Amino acid sequence: IVASMTMVLYFLPGCTFTKPVYPLSTNGKLFPWAQFRLPRSVRPVNYDLTLNPDLNNMTFTGRTVITMSVLHNTKIIVLHSAHLNITKATFKLGDQETRDVTVLEYQTRQQIAVQLSEEMKAGQSCVLTLDYSASLSHTYDGFYNSSYIDKEGNKRVLAATQFEPLSARKAFPCFDEPAFKATFLIKISRKSNYTTLSNMPQVKSTPLPNGLVQDEFEKTSVNMSTYLVAFIVADFTPISKNVSETLVSVYSVPEKKEHTDYALDTASKLLEFYNSFFEINYPLKKLDLVAIPDFLAGAMENWGLITFRETTLLVGNQSSPLEKQLVASVIAHELAHQWFGNLVTMSWWNDLWLNEGFATYMQYMSLQTVFPTLDIVTLCFTLLRFRALDKDALNSSHAVSTEVNNPEQVEEMFDSVSYEKGASILMMLNTWLPGKQQFRKGIIQYLKQFSGLNTDTDDLWNSLTQVCVCVCVSAQHHNVSEMMRSWTSQKGFPLVTVSRQGGQVTLTQEHFLLTSDKATYTSSLWNIPVTYVTDNCSLGPECIQMFNLKTKSGTLELPESVKWLKLNYRNTGFYIVHYGDEGWAALKDALSSNVQVLTQEDRASLIHNIFALSRLGRVSFYQVLNLLKYMSNETESCPVTEALLQLNVIYRLLDKRQEDSLHYILYRFGSLMDNQTWGEEESVSKQELRSALLGSACSLNQENCIQQAKALFKHYDESNGTSRIPGDLQQVVFTVAAQSNEDWLTLLHMYQTVTYDAEKRKMLRGLASTQDARRIVWILKAGLRGDIIQTQELPLVISTVCNGFAGYLFAWDFIQENWDRLIEKFPIGSYAIQTIIKSATSQFSTQAHLDRVQGFFSSLKERGSQMRSVQEALETIRLNQRWMDKNLPTLQKWL
Ligand SMILES: [Zn+2]
Repeated sequence: IVASMTMVLYFLPGCTFTKPVYPLSTNGKLFPWAQFRLPRSVRPVNYDLTLNPDLNNMTFTGRTVITMSVLHNTKIIVLHSAHLNITKATFKLGDQETRDVTVLEYQTRQQIAVQLSEEMKAGQSCVLTLDYSASLSHTYDGFYNSSYIDKEGNKRVLAATQFEPLSARKAFPCFDEPAFKATFLIKISRKSNYTTLSNMPQVKSTPLPNGLVQDEFEKTSVNMSTYLVAFIVADFTPISKNVSETLVSVYSVPEKKEHTDYALDTASKLLEFYNSFFEINYPLKKLDLVAIPDFLAGAMENWGLITFRETTLLVGNQSSPLEKQLVASVIAHELAHQWFGNLVTMSWWNDLWLNEGFATYMQYMSLQTVFPTLDIVTLCFTLLRFRALDKDALNSSHAVSTEVNNPEQVEEMFDSVSYEKGASILMMLNTWLPGKQQFRKGIIQYLKQFSGLNTDTDDLWNSLTQVCVCVCVSAQHHNVSEMMRSWTSQKGFPLVTVSRQGGQVTLTQEHFLLTSDKATYTSSLWNIPVTYVTDNCSLGPECIQMFNLKTKSGTLELPESVKWLKLNYRNTGFYIVHYGDEGWAALKDALSSNVQVLTQEDRASLIHNIFALSRLGRVSFYQVLNLLKYMSNETESCPVTEALLQLNVIYRLLDKRQEDSLHYILYRFGSLMDNQTWGEEESVSKQELRSALLGSACSLNQENCIQQAKALFKHYDESNGTSRIPGDLQQVVFTVAAQSNEDWLTLLHMYQTVTYDAEKRKMLRGLASTQDARRIVWILKAGLRGDIIQTQELPLVISTVCNGFAGYLFAWDFIQENWDRLIEKFPIGSYAIQTIIKSATSQFSTQAHLDRVQGFFSSLKERGSQMRSVQEALETIRLNQRWMDKNLPTLQKWL
């Protein structure tokens, strides 16, 4: 992290006869390599890793023996190392004697090098042995220390790893790029009352003279990238089960063992599913899923040793189906990675979507098949894809597969374009390919062909094209590569505009770009697999009609009698549709007389699209409100949640300007809100619907809602743990409780004592939603300190504080004042920093704020000014400003 802060970009001179400018090593000598990426002349074959962590002093020593093979004649070996103090280095080439060598270090790029006097020849093998010492990391990456308080109130320490994307180098010197796959043999020493875990099963334990025990793990049976290596030293306890050839275990701190059953059962079912779906068995003998008390990401797919936050793995007896669903979907995602990412890995971070887009897609796909009762799966995915569209509509977005040339850019790839847009275009492709099994056959072919290797985006499209060409002879026009490249090689997505004259329907495409700046106009075109349904047949898959729009515009024929058409059936395509005034009016009339004429995903996509078009300036806000009139008849969670979410964005903007606003929401949703119950509810989709509706009702201070929530909290508090609040209502109840002086303190006390983390997190969101300025400042500071509130929760605290009127300016000040400490905890460009910037700035809509935000970020220089999320923030404020200028006067008249 420190290195990325002081990152200096070196650009190599363009002309080949100029020598590269070599930087200086720490010892003052020239460092023999001047690029961010490592040379390809030497390749690691195996690492022998010995680690001796000292959890009392928070340090460790290590020895790494790297066996390498020479691919091209060379005199240098360059690899990664960060914050490691190398104490001894020896080198052996072929059969020669082992000798001492000097290691040069260039800290800015986290590289070390050994320069040899003679040239190594292609085909030779060599061994580099490095002894080193280091401190355990106090952030969330590398080999880091973590702790928790046990039942007796004692602090227990542990150490765990998080290497993706660039932190394996903080634990051992290595070729830390995904294409340098190798085998690993790992040994770790520990105190006798601790256990160790790593990617592979343990083979032996040996007592050491110093009273410690050394555990040795089997050498990895597969070649793997460094970012997938993992080890843990802790006092966790497991539960286990055999699934075909694999021993599946779930580990947690001892007192949470009773919360692990659901995860074990779910992981076992999903492992069986993937084994048969991919027609390749999971290749390792064991699979551990470990809940770590202090963990920043949601989870990490380390091969054979998947790590999780406690909230994404543990399920209490009282957990609601919604919480179970979160756990199931995170497990499904990480298990999918064991094939997509671990077995077949992207060659470089520019194609991160091959890992993340696939795992995200498979996560929803597998859950639908394995747990069809979790009916909400479709809903979440639909709404998530809307958020990816919103981000991708900005000029600051990037192509799915895009250039990545420094550590910040690597971190920034972990965003909704790689995850949700990646998953969306796979879904679009799957819908479009003829026959149910086509897509699956293509990915099986891809996995088999590249098993153990690295790939780029074209390899995937080629595999899918091959399968398609040989299976569907009659449909040669289905060239997957040709179609999909238009979705992965350029940023953004198309807006398809429909204009109809009788039976003739013209579809026109253009780049949906939210900007008022004419200079950013692009002539991008996409190969769009348009689907549509009409009032003749609009619900089942048999109704789908297809039209391939490759050029600027195209025409399709409809019977004149067709009253309306809806494009993008069930929102499986990654584009937005404008139906023109008449088209929108016809759809609105159809929904007003019967909401059931379209699927709920179609209804939700109409709502999302019309809000987006209003932001683009293509429809008036009056038209948006007009469509929402049908809402009083809406019953499903997907359209309701989307509408509330969109209105909430506007509500928050108006609120920050102290404009008395959207009580209109209550008017449209009033009867729906009143119909919600406060008892236990079994159906997942009803739970989702009611938590969204009641959340809005209470935040708009609807009297009945507030009273019910207060009563539930009181009952819960007085029952001394015997009564419970239904899981889906906890958030609403805690948020209401936190608004009262006394109950806020009660809630803080509960937060400190409750063990179940999903509930704890909702309490924290409640606490952070207070409108008391002193408490807001306190909670922000506590999140940064990390004692009462874990620092991993700070992004959540900031985003909650920013939603309210009382806190958003405090949060913005807090971020500016503590920027350096924030980027020490959360790397520049990381998802956590993206979240923090977005929450703090997306509430602004005035020129004065735009200037301040711009001023602050440009003053940061190499400490973050170049981040894509900064560009995104500035664009968003400008768009907010434009929207307000245009719509505020009218809104003030209506509302
Ligand atoms: Zn992932």
